Amino acid sequence: MSDVAISGGGLSGPLLAVFLARRGHRVTVYERRDDPRQALSQGRSINLALSTRGITALEKVGLVDSVMSAGIAMHGRMIHDARGKQDFQSYSADGSKAINSISRSTLNNVLLGAAEQEPNVSLLFGHRILATAHDSGEVSYEANGESFRRTHDVIIGTDGAFSATRDAVVRADRADFSQEYLPWGYKELSISPDPSGAFALDPDALHIWPRGNAMIIALPNPDHSFTATLFWPFDGPCGFADPRTIAQHFAEVYPDLVPLLGDLQGEFERHPVGSLVTVRMWPWTRGRIGLLGDAAHAIVPFFGQGMNCSFEDVVELDRCLDETSDNWAEALPLYAERRKPHADAIGELALANFVEMRDKVSSTMFKARKNVEHALERLAPDHFDSLYELVSFSNVPYAETRTRTAQQRRFPYNVVAVAAAAKALVTGSHR
Ligand code: FAD
Repeated sequence: MSDVAISGGGLSGPLLAVFLARRGHRVTVYERRDDPRQALSQGRSINLALSTRGITALEKVGLVDSVMSAGIAMHGRMIHDARGKQDFQSYSADGSKAINSISRSTLNNVLLGAAEQEPNVSLLFGHRILATAHDSGEVSYEANGESFRRTHDVIIGTDGAFSATRDAVVRADRADFSQEYLPWGYKELSISPDPSGAFALDPDALHIWPRGNAMIIALPNPDHSFTATLFWPFDGPCGFADPRTIAQHFAEVYPDLVPLLGDLQGEFERHPVGSLVTVRMWPWTRGRIGLLGDAAHAIVPFFGQGMNCSFEDVVELDRCLDETSDNWAEALPLYAERRKPHADAIGELALANFVEMRDKVSSTMFKARKNVEHALERLAPDHFDSLYELVSFSNVPYAETRTRTAQQRRFPYNVVAVAAAAKALVTGSHR
């Protein structure tokens, strides 16, 4: 049994604490914020899309029901054009598969609650990690305005995209590190329920207002509101620096949203603009420190996979501990070697999907391609899977999703796919 420090009690930290506690390790989670479950109000509703990879991880520790009961299934994307016309595009060929809109705070609270249930986990809120040492396992932290030090056998950094734990890994010899910011930022606004208390938009869809260089998306919440997220360029027209007033901008570019956004001007001014960063680094582990989740590989949110990928990291680390009989010196490098290619792959896919979401989803070519893909999935389910399907509705490793779909697209891809479909028809392996 080891004494493990986890820095960060966000999404992956408490999940990892549950896995490690059940392996018999003693776990201390340091979280800089106060306990979010004690807050009088949970603040603004902010949600994320949970899909198969995240669900698989939650299943392993019996948390899937408590999380999914608070989720809302979204079976497709609803595209809103500039005249307000809506077009529903199913995510899967038979319309049965869905990603799930989950409140970030509900998910965080469920995970913290589960970690707290484990007798060998202690959760320390209001404890901010200042520095870590990879050779000694020492953690320096600040709580109630005072600084402290404590030594652990192992430190796992799950303290997010701007990780303090990461500094000890990056500052040591021969570490590669880059952070790449998009020239786009994001801002969240809320869409209230309609006057009868019902959803103002179809809750079975992730709504997208694609406008070329900018877009807005909206995901449903259990209280029948939606959270809309603006992904706008910082500079130039149709962005946060657009010379039009906000009211004018929305009236001209997103007219069907105007009646849904109550206090548009007030919310727009009150809510901050967040930045979108991709973190790439290597190694992910040094001495007694390992990094996991956004701390190792923050990605942009356009495939809805940052958290899902982080939860997959947790499962892989647990597997490596199994294979090495909990020998951390072997398990941490093994975990890092195995996960790095997949984190790189989803990082690139997420960047590419931004162009698809903000620009291509409304095009006739995109719709035609989706129709072909869905037809092929129906005809030859054993031979053809779309990239979206593999990423969102399977546990196929991310790097493999890229190679598989790249192979399908060669010569051109639909010729190969049609041949596969024909073969499946002849051999009778279609549904
Ligand atoms: P976090 O959840 O960020 O947790 C880090 C924790 O560490 C926080 O609680 C923080 O307070 C704490 N912390 C930080 N520094 C310290 C310190 N020095 N000491 C102690 N504690 C510290 N992913 C999806 O899968 N689906 C989505 O739909 C999706 N949508 C997104 C939308 C947006 C706009 C953004 C920005 C991201 C989205 N993501 C999504 C990505 C997802 O939010 C992250 O990948 C996920 O939260 C990573 O989990 P984590 O545990 O690594 O980090």
